[in-house]
Amino acid sequence: MISPLRKRSRLLFVSFVSLLTVGTGAVAQNQPGSTAAEPMPVDSRISAALKQVSADRIRSNIEKLASFGTRSTISAQDPAANAAGRGIEAARQWIESEFGLYSRDCGGCLKLNVQGFTEPAGDRIPQPAQIVNVYAVLNGSDEENAKRIVLVTGHYDSRNSDILDTKGDAPGANDDASGAAVSLECARVLSKLKFPATIIFLTVAGEEQGLNGSRHFAQIAKEKGWNIEAVLNNDIVGGDKSAEQDHSVVRVFSEGLPAAATEQEIRRIRGLGGENDSRSRQLARYIADVGRAYRDEVGVKPMLVFRLDRYLRGGDHSAFNQQGFSAVRFTEFREDFHHQHQNVRTDNANGIEYGDLPKFVDFDYVARVARLNAATLASLASAPAPPANVHLLTKDLENDSTLTWEASPGGRAAGYEILWRATTSPEWEHVQKVGNVLRTTLKLSKDNVIFAVRAVDAEGHRSLPVVPLPER
Ligand SMILES: [Zn+2]
Repeated sequence: MISPLRKRSRLLFVSFVSLLTVGTGAVAQNQPGSTAAEPMPVDSRISAALKQVSADRIRSNIEKLASFGTRSTISAQDPAANAAGRGIEAARQWIESEFGLYSRDCGGCLKLNVQGFTEPAGDRIPQPAQIVNVYAVLNGSDEENAKRIVLVTGHYDSRNSDILDTKGDAPGANDDASGAAVSLECARVLSKLKFPATIIFLTVAGEEQGLNGSRHFAQIAKEKGWNIEAVLNNDIVGGDKSAEQDHSVVRVFSEGLPAAATEQEIRRIRGLGGENDSRSRQLARYIADVGRAYRDEVGVKPMLVFRLDRYLRGGDHSAFNQQGFSAVRFTEFREDFHHQHQNVRTDNANGIEYGDLPKFVDFDYVARVARLNAATLASLASAPAPPANVHLLTKDLENDSTLTWEASPGGRAAGYEILWRATTSPEWEHVQKVGNVLRTTLKLSKDNVIFAVRAVDAEGHRSLPVVPLPER
């Protein structure tokens, strides 16, 4: 059962409002009855779950993953290597056993899946390679809403200086045992609860060789018609202890123009000024909302970066974007390039230690990032589905704006809220509760603001917002 939600203090609300209304001008505020957007209500059940996330657990999981010597996707996969506890297959078997323990502790509530396939030879794969993704599924408790999926992922493969080195040490503590540890810890903590929608806890291989594991998973998901509402990719979330690290912040990258958009959709985006409103970006804004609501429990602030990934670099979320899924990437504020994609060594000339070792990871930071992920997964899995077929009517030239939508599928919505913001604003600024209706007219010009509609349940859990399409 969902316990009653509690509201944050008035003080927090006021400070948030003043933060958001700076510089927005009066234009977007002249709708009678609207209020400034405020953080989502805190669900005490989610809040309690976040306290179960353990930095010690995360530490032991990252150290365990680093202990397999190398987790190169093309490292040995044979009984001798497995017996010696070295190589990617030994690491994968350990991940399976760990998910199995969590499932045992919740009475078999997690369904464990091992998804293997053969990746053909290519630039970074000298011979056809067996690649295996491992994931645990916490099925939704509500039959209709169980078809909705939210997913957290990290890659468990690693590399050193030479992408083709199959034998040398590649501890990959930050890149990306930290992300795999986030998936594992979210599974351990959230499997103790029940949610209407389904949560998948994924760890993939082949990221360093070319996003092979995530590409395969996303393709299969698309082929099977899985309704994945959100993908949270954690890659390099170790909070490397370098001097200029900011441990209070985690970056959240999201695509602008959707990778899967058709030519026609790109034309529409261009015409409407929709460059800043991909579904992945709505997910990023939702994470910012979660971060404000649960800031005391989480302890790390999401810093939205409106860019697919770091400059000219890539990651597993983009494989999901390619298939049309909303997906974002979490990465620490400042990477230390001495500690990733490097052979473990010390340069005697300057004393610099190279290599991705556990001793450079801040396990408390990883735990905070895991809490932000867990809060996002739990909030989305508790929420109603987003409203369907959201439209903005454009038949007549008028200064009012009429929005229509179809009911949130799955029957959990108690009502709907209209959001808007100035076109120059990064986040939603204003909200109007409109009740359990499927149409509303606002005294606002569609020329001047960007709208979205979200569904809200009786306890205040919010769906992802949906930006309307024009309807003539
Ligand atoms: Zn990585």
